[in-house]
Amino acid sequence: DLGYMTSEKAYRIVLAGDAAVGKSSFLLRLCKNEFKLNSSATLGVDFQMKTLIVDGEPVLLQLWDTAGQERFRSIAKSYFRRADGVLLLYDVNCEKSFLNVREWVDMIEDVSRDDIPIMLVGNKCDLRRDGDGCVPTNYGQKLAMTYNTLFCETSAKDGSNILEAVLHLARLVKKQA
Ligand code: GDP
Repeated sequence: DLGYMTSEKAYRIVLAGDAAVGKSSFLLRLCKNEFKLNSSATLGVDFQMKTLIVDGEPVLLQLWDTAGQERFRSIAKSYFRRADGVLLLYDVNCEKSFLNVREWVDMIEDVSRDDIPIMLVGNKCDLRRDGDGCVPTNYGQKLAMTYNTLFCETSAKDGSNILEAVLHLARLVKKQA
């Protein structure tokens, strides 16, 4: 059935966040249900397709990885310009990646369409060890509240919350379309 390739609208979801927070791994878990401990820098593809059932209806997503083109590269900005929604990842064990969320949001709001739905995702929660450099869950929740975005914590390694995160975002994206 090639129908979805020709007629059905695909919503464009772009993954954002610092290098090594797990964007490629997130996509690999979502689309292939796999995980690689030492994944290479990119999957070698620009996007993956995924159909989800949202409120009883199939929703086709085109998920773009900005692998290797983080932040200031203009090519990454062109992805965000045409995005319908953004998955913005940080690593819950890497404070720096959390502090950089602000810059990502600024960039996204600068180039994307107004009120673009963003899901803030604290990834690698399977690794969380309390102490220095760790980002507590309520920090993520608070930040998401200030930006009026959705929030969840995920693990691409064990798969927790990956599908839920994308479902929540897809529902919002569909509603706004
Ligand atoms: P990207 O640069 O943002 O695309 O990050 P990658 O997907 O390449 O992941 C960077 C590294 O973190 C790889 O070694 C992954 O195996 C690892 N990684 C990604 N997600 C998780 C996770 O949820 N848990 C754990 N333990 N490791 C992860």
